[in-house]
Amino acid sequence: MGDFYRLIGNPVGHSKSPLIHAAFARQLGIDLTYDSVLAPLDGFAATVAALAAAGCKGANVTVPFKIAAFALCTRLSARARAAGAVNTLTFDAGAIAGDNTDGAGLVADITGNAGLAIAGQRVLVVGAGGAARGALLPLIEQGPATLTLVNRTAATAAAVAAQFDFPIDVRAFAELRGPFDIVINATSASLTGALPPLPACVFGAGTLALDMMYGAASTPFMAFAAEHGAATRDGLGMLVEQAAEAFYGWRGVRPATAAVLASLRAAA
Ligand code: NDP
Repeated sequence: MGDFYRLIGNPVGHSKSPLIHAAFARQLGIDLTYDSVLAPLDGFAATVAALAAAGCKGANVTVPFKIAAFALCTRLSARARAAGAVNTLTFDAGAIAGDNTDGAGLVADITGNAGLAIAGQRVLVVGAGGAARGALLPLIEQGPATLTLVNRTAATAAAVAAQFDFPIDVRAFAELRGPFDIVINATSASLTGALPPLPACVFGAGTLALDMMYGAASTPFMAFAAEHGAATRDGLGMLVEQAAEAFYGWRGVRPATAAVLASLRAAA
């Protein structure tokens, strides 16, 4: 039997990660299995321990366990430290290495799939939760001209920005002046059909508006951005790219993502 990997979450039934990793493995001729594991809300550590004991090589971690995963790791990558959250675990002889590939996935989607450089651009990140925190260091490493952060709870944005050695411009929604070249919705507002209170001026004809949420339908954020001239993108490309980055971390080979993304889009 080949190596096995898991996705741990609660819920996990809806996840596309098993499909994505199976496609990567097929493409590269690697014999591995990747399935979802529903961990009890109070049983994340026990689930991880059981998987590691059974010989599991690694796991992805999703809602609501990314912070619990961070606390459990014996070793952390710089980007996991910056995010304060872990979405990729590697098990090796009793050690648990933690990484966060969400931000790298976002950057790869923007620069690779959307074909847009982040270097020299004016970037706005909306939200200051786990996904936003995971995105900041990889975005900073691209060398944006400016990086602005806005969040419903202003104090959270200020606290997050203070952790980075980069002049992140923290603003209230009403203080935002645009347009920005790239606007990233890293809030969970779209999950409930809500729209963060962004002024229309953040968008322009040259703006890329990316919602980290993905699904069959356009989100209120994407619709609002399009109404004001922006090109829009959902989070499906980011999802595929963060998976490719995790796969690379585990196996040392980088899967091609374009065909996998296209087939997920076709099936949506
Ligand atoms: P968190 O719960 O950690 O953070 C939620 C953030 O959204 C907070 O900043 C919160 O603000 C803000 N927020 C929630 N509701 C509203 C609202 N109605 N108006 C304005 N702001 C709001 O969530 P995550 O960071 O883990 O996830 C955020 C999104 O990113 C989700 O949609 C998730 O599905 C997506 N995601 C996508 C990935 C991908 O691969 N495509 C990977 C990871 C996440 P406050 O601080 O005020 O509460």
